[in-house]
Amino acid sequence: MVCDVMAAPSLPSLPVHRSVPARAAGERERRPRTRRRLGRTLSRARWREYGRLLEMAVEHGYHVVSLETWLADADASASGPVLILRHDVDQYPASALRMAAIEARLGIRSTWYFRWRTADPYVVSAIREAGHDVGLHYESLSRELLRSGLTAAQAPTLLVRARALLREELAAFSERHGPVRSSCPHGDTRIPGVHNGVLLQGENVADYGIEWDANAAVGRAPLDVWLTDRSSAEGRWKEELDPIDLLIDRRSPILAVVHPNNWVSGAALWCDRIAPGRHGTADSDEPPLGRSALRRVAAAG
Ligand SMILES: [Zn+2]
Repeated sequence: MVCDVMAAPSLPSLPVHRSVPARAAGERERRPRTRRRLGRTLSRARWREYGRLLEMAVEHGYHVVSLETWLADADASASGPVLILRHDVDQYPASALRMAAIEARLGIRSTWYFRWRTADPYVVSAIREAGHDVGLHYESLSRELLRSGLTAAQAPTLLVRARALLREELAAFSERHGPVRSSCPHGDTRIPGVHNGVLLQGENVADYGIEWDANAAVGRAPLDVWLTDRSSAEGRWKEELDPIDLLIDRRSPILAVVHPNNWVSGAALWCDRIAPGRHGTADSDEPPLGRSALRRVAAAG
């Protein structure tokens, strides 16, 4: 099996098809979950759909800009409708390269947020060199909660420590990957109700070495539509929004939050989980902090 995002569309030859269990009468209640899993495993990549969407935006006169570009000057593209692109790389960093190649073909720039487990040095550097913005997709609070075994209700007890960690993580990210202007909180489905974004609420982000925290900054700006993608198996977009309709109606500004791992085939995702390739997902969310950074975190709380 070739575990490569570029080779992923060759689904029919993959053995996962043969592992589909036969349906039994007594399995009726298990079917929806099984169907969902199978749907994701057998889902095809949607790169063509993504490219077509961007082409349509350009054809309809949209200025397609990166989130940071828009945050820096929301009026710069006031002469026409605006589509703002933000990418959260939650899994499978190689999928970012595939998506960035589509944007490069159309001369489009976007803003990319990487978790520590997806911040593959080659991928981050390739994205930056292609002219995109990069930043940290942080999860300092949820990661500390999971590590300490505390419940979501106990999250406030970790705020001081998690903020100190985030400050060090942002410095470490810049040191590894170059200057960073913004960050973006990651949501961890393992602890619902815990929002990493609270770490920078009421804080001066300049104290953290950045200019914007993505969600908070967007909340203060005049956004018309917030579009978030869904997985390849689910298809379409959250809240049943149809970007084609939005483009035809010239809605603006539209923020599209797009996860590249949601557009790869199910087989490619499974390969990444089972046997991550050269630019696959790492097995840890831990930031690469040195001893002095850890001492400062310990002193903070
Ligand atoms: Zn995320």
